[in-house]
Amino acid sequence: MSGEASEPTIVLFRRDLRVDDNAALAAAADRGAPVVALYVLDEEAHDTRAMGAASRWWLHHSLAALGHRLGHAGARLYLTRGPTCEVVAKAIAASGADCVFWNRRYDPADAAVDAGLKAELRKKGLTAQSFDGALLHEPSLLKTGSGGFYKVYTPFWKAMVDKPHVRDPIDPPGSIDGWRGKLDNLRLNALELLPTNPDWAHGLRETWRPGEEGAHARLREFIEYGLAHYERQRDFPSQLSTSRLSPHLAFGEITPFQILAHLRRSKSSGASKFRSEIGWREFSYHLLFHNADLAKSNFRPEFDAMPWRDDKRMLRSWQRGLTGYPIVDAGMRELWHMGWMHNRVRMIVASFLIKDLMIDWRQGEKWFWDTLVDADAANNPASWQWVAGSGADAAPYFRIFNPVLQGEKFDPRGEYVRRHIPEIGALPDRYIHRPWEAPAALLKEGNIELGKTYPTPVVDHGAARDRALILYQSIKDAV
Ligand code: FAD
Repeated sequence: MSGEASEPTIVLFRRDLRVDDNAALAAAADRGAPVVALYVLDEEAHDTRAMGAASRWWLHHSLAALGHRLGHAGARLYLTRGPTCEVVAKAIAASGADCVFWNRRYDPADAAVDAGLKAELRKKGLTAQSFDGALLHEPSLLKTGSGGFYKVYTPFWKAMVDKPHVRDPIDPPGSIDGWRGKLDNLRLNALELLPTNPDWAHGLRETWRPGEEGAHARLREFIEYGLAHYERQRDFPSQLSTSRLSPHLAFGEITPFQILAHLRRSKSSGASKFRSEIGWREFSYHLLFHNADLAKSNFRPEFDAMPWRDDKRMLRSWQRGLTGYPIVDAGMRELWHMGWMHNRVRMIVASFLIKDLMIDWRQGEKWFWDTLVDADAANNPASWQWVAGSGADAAPYFRIFNPVLQGEKFDPRGEYVRRHIPEIGALPDRYIHRPWEAPAALLKEGNIELGKTYPTPVVDHGAARDRALILYQSIKDAV
């Protein structure tokens, strides 16, 4: 310990559930005074979006892991719920703390809460300080030549890559002098984050290990076995070829600084591609920081005139993985089972909802928000708007994925589809992405009755594509 402060320091934890590379925690430990580690579940902040069910499941387990890790280092994690300013005021009154540290958040709604907190604390003569950690860049500082924010990924990433140095991860405190007094502390179960009736989380439990240790194990495994093949295989959903770090990043169990430090040590050819995907996350946050309404409003206002269809039956068939297009259904069932979906398939299912069913991208974004363990305030809406064409650096409007051809290209042997849709598993590769073309004898042999055991397609893709092109062209013409 280098400092000699005597009053306790409060460290707020939110989406930075880690001990390593935690600038706020390291600075607090360095002050030399007792540390009050405080998690605040603030669901009342104006404009803050309520967390989805899969994220809540993750949060429960991530908090448990953080509690253990802090406990080993000497600090107790206090769990609280309520408006951030009120909870912090109570913690100050109980502990006598004169200093509050936290790591910065970049969702404008969260950032507003933190700005209010900072102002209030400073007004009372207390020290309030925020630190970096979630992003490699500060969205308020990275500007285009004309002083605005970036709307296109390539120049954004070039500006970032051209930056001379990304800092090294910050070492965890050797030990923490944890404050041990009495606070309004909830038991983890009292936060009511887990599903109970029904308990739908068995697939999540099978798949994930939330927490810092799980995140680092995942990174090590990916660097050892996945990185070299990443560029070539990352589009094939049947293979475990991507890192699956997204929920760990979303909850701040690992930082981009830590990932980049590992990549710097790696000689693998996949490193540059992987780094640029981390760059897409930075770009999404850059967009969100400058567009608070990213999940609510079209980035391109001309899309406000799009005549989306309000078709609840179709929306439900998409959500349940019952559209009759195997690659779409496999993706939606993967999502339901494990709270995650492969990126290529996310693009296919999103294109299908928006362009084949002509359902507003916000409906899809909302479903993902509820069901993804990596549901992210920036990546999710930015990606949905990208697929819809309404986003900043969006996909061209005439790009409408053909779900059959996408399936045949990226799941050529149907392994991904068979994993998630066993009821059509007996079909040979030739028909696995187009079961409606299979001869009757083959269907019978595989116990498949289209329309009963597996749906017939809910729309004809060719006709749906023509309809979408006309509507998209009309939006484009109106500009
Ligand atoms: P990897 O390929 O291993 O990439 C490493 C990391 O880079 C990811 O963990 C993620 O943080 C970042 N990344 C990769 N691709 C993207 C991308 N296209 N945009 C932004 N960041 C990226 N990602 C989320 O983290 N949360 C979401 O809520 C989310 N919603 C999405 C919705 C749609 C419609 C689409 C098309 C994409 C969405 N993505 C989202 C982006 C991407 O699909 C996931 O980040 C990726 O599939 C996560 O798997 P991974 O960690 O194995 O990725």
